[in-house]
Amino acid sequence: MKATCWMGRNTVEVRNVPDPGIVNARDAVVRVTSTAICGSDLHLYDGYVPTMKKGDILGHEFMGEVVEVGPQVRNLRVGDRVVVPFPIACGNCLSCQNGMYSVCENSNPNAGVAEKLMGHSPAGIFGYSHMLGGYAGGQAEYARVPFADVGPIKVEDGLPDEKVLFLSDILPTGWMGAEMCDIKPGDVIAIWGAGPVGQFAAVSARLMGAERVICIDRLPYRLHHAARAGAETLNYEEVDVLEALREMTAGRGPDACIDAVGMEAHHGNPAMYAYDRTKQATRLETDRPYALRQAILACRNGGTVSVIGVYGGFVDKFPMGAVMNRSLTLRAGQCHVQRYMRPLMDRIRHGDIDPSFVISHRMRLEDAPHAYEMFKNKENECNKVVLTT
Ligand code: NAD
Ligand code: ZN
Ligand code: ZN
Repeated sequence: MKATCWMGRNTVEVRNVPDPGIVNARDAVVRVTSTAICGSDLHLYDGYVPTMKKGDILGHEFMGEVVEVGPQVRNLRVGDRVVVPFPIACGNCLSCQNGMYSVCENSNPNAGVAEKLMGHSPAGIFGYSHMLGGYAGGQAEYARVPFADVGPIKVEDGLPDEKVLFLSDILPTGWMGAEMCDIKPGDVIAIWGAGPVGQFAAVSARLMGAERVICIDRLPYRLHHAARAGAETLNYEEVDVLEALREMTAGRGPDACIDAVGMEAHHGNPAMYAYDRTKQATRLETDRPYALRQAILACRNGGTVSVIGVYGGFVDKFPMGAVMNRSLTLRAGQCHVQRYMRPLMDRIRHGDIDPSFVISHRMRLEDAPHAYEMFKNKENECNKVVLTT
C-alpha cells in the first residue's frame, strides 16, 4: 500500500510499504478513505518529537471502511464506515473507565521510553513516534486499528467523510478545550491560535453559551475563519494582546483563556522569542510556551486556563506566581476523543455544527509531501488539508 512516511526533519515521502494485518484479537483493519494533517503532525515534521524513525507512517486523523476484524471485535463488520479516534485506548483500565482515554494505561507498549523522556506516558497514539507506541498512522491506504471494539465510531446515515472526519481529533479537541472552561452565560473566552483547533474551540464556546469569544493569531485568513465562527479577533502583530484584552473586558481579563497553539508558538516579544527558540534548539527547554504565558497573564482573577495546544516536556519562565496568587485554575489534556464522538456526531447530524468549514485544501494522498509543506508554511491560505485515497 501507499503510506506517508516520516523521512527526517521537514521530509515526508509517500512510499510503498507492506499492508497491515490483524495482530491481536481486538484489531480491525480499515481502508482509509479520508485523512487529514494536524498541527500536531507539524511537531513531528519540524523534528520536535524524539523517537521518530525514518520510514514511520504518519497520521492520526483518519476514517474509512472496515476490511478485516479480529475475532473479539463484535461491534464492527466488514464494510462498516468508521471514524477512528487518535488516542488508542483499551476501554478497561482505570483511566478508560473514568473516560480519560488519552491517558489509557494499556495502549503504550513503550511507556518506559516516554517516562524517561517526558517523566510520564500518555496513551499510544497513531503515527506519533516510538515513545507513544510506534503505531503506524492513518495517512495511508490502510491502517491497523487496535482496540477496535472501543474506539471507532460507525457512520450510519450516509454523512459524507468531510462532515465526520474531524471527529477523529480536532472537533472533540476544540470542544474539550471549551468544556474545560466551565462556560457560564455572559462569559468572555479568549483563544490563542486561530488554527483549525482554535476555530473549533471558538464554535464550541459559542454553542456552550459564551457571550464573547476572542481569537488571537497573526494570520488574517485564519482570523477571518474565526470571525465566521462567531469570534472577535485580535492580530498579535498589530496590537498589544494583554492591553487589548484588558480593554475589551473592563480591565479584568477574559473569564477563561484557551491555549490552542502549543509548543511551537512564535513571534510576540522578540527578546523572549529568541530566548525560547535558542533554549529549545539546544534542548535546554523542550517547548516554547509563548502563548501559554500570555494566556495565564491575561486571564481574570479566579479564571481558568485551558491548555489543548500540545506540550512535550519542560518550559521556562512559567508564570506560576500568577497562577497561584490570582487563584487561576489550570486544565489540560490530549483530547479524550472517545468520550465526545457520539454526542458530537449527534450535533453534526442535527446540523448544529458543520465541521467541514475548516477545510481549505482537498488533495490526493500522493500529494502529502506538498500538503505538509503548505500547511507548515501557511501558504495558499492553507487552513486544513484533507487527503483522499
Ligand atoms: P496550526 O499550526 O494549524 O495552528 C496554530 C496556530 O497558532 C497558527 O494559526 C499560528 O499562527 C498560531 N500561533 C502561533 N503562535 C502564536 C501566538 N504566540 N499567539 C497566538 N497564535 C499563535 O495547528 P492546529 O491544528 O490548529 O493545532 C493547534 C495546537 O493544538 C497544536 O499544538 C496541536 O498539536 C494541538 N492539538 C492538540 C490536541 C489535543 O488533543 N490536545 C489535538 C489536536 C491538536
Ligand atoms: Zn491531530
Ligand atoms: Zn485503557
